[in-house]
Amino acid sequence: MKKNSILSSLPILIAFVFVGVFAWLIASVFLGNKAGDVQPESESSEEETEEPIAKDEEPEEAKPTGPVYSPMTNVASSNCTIKYGNLMLINPNFHVEQEYITNRKVELISLSYNYGIEEGNPYNGDNLMDATAAAHMYEMVNAYKAEYPGHVIETRSCYRVRGTTCGRLCLPTGQTDHHTGLTCDLIDPAYGTSLDTSLYNQHVEWQWLKANSYKYGFIDRFPLAWAGGSMSEPMNVNADGSTGLYETWHYRYVGVEAATEIATGKYNNGQYDSLEHYLKATGLVTDLVKATCKTD
Ligand SMILES: [Zn+2]
Repeated sequence: MKKNSILSSLPILIAFVFVGVFAWLIASVFLGNKAGDVQPESESSEEETEEPIAKDEEPEEAKPTGPVYSPMTNVASSNCTIKYGNLMLINPNFHVEQEYITNRKVELISLSYNYGIEEGNPYNGDNLMDATAAAHMYEMVNAYKAEYPGHVIETRSCYRVRGTTCGRLCLPTGQTDHHTGLTCDLIDPAYGTSLDTSLYNQHVEWQWLKANSYKYGFIDRFPLAWAGGSMSEPMNVNADGSTGLYETWHYRYVGVEAATEIATGKYNNGQYDSLEHYLKATGLVTDLVKATCKTD
């Protein structure tokens, strides 16, 4: 008898379950639509709640989005750009003192010993570099080697304790980019061994560096467009950002962000920039001739 009553109530149970499922489906569709209907409202209420937060953060948003840098910590100089670290400027207007030059050398590491990057023709300078720049240099020369098997990039002069007196291309002590510990003259000896700008077209490595070095934080420090006139004319390092030099082998580490902005001409209508012009355009340097920096 009990079994029968269970059996007879089974259709009712099934009906209940069916109605329940149906009601649940209707409710979920209804609620789903409703959620869709109120979506714009919830969006606008999100905006409302975002607004006061944005107001709170206003001072932070107002900060200029300039290049990233950190100052050199163990060296001192009257050169105001020293506080810009990798972006520091040494040229005939922005000098450094002997004390800076001597102390800077202690901070540098050997490219040969640490990375197997050899100096091709040691005649002036040491094969030394800032550790971060050296690590990026290693990546860069390896990328070149991978693309040109059997080839190698050598340094010719990286850090210099003193200046040189070879004429227009050389600068006296205190005025050369080679005091930064962030720079090297580079050459692939397979394409020739003399540093001669007229040979640019036969030096595949110089063309490769010009096109790719920014990915590793390096820039062509003295591009032709910023030489400030012919190399037979008096040296012109002017207020607009000319470097006074044209060298197709001189590469300088500034960090990937700044290098990308310089190589892609963010502040120079899409054309390769000079470090001088870049520092002026970003407001870090206020006068390229008087050698003054932004005061913060
Ligand atoms: Zn050089």
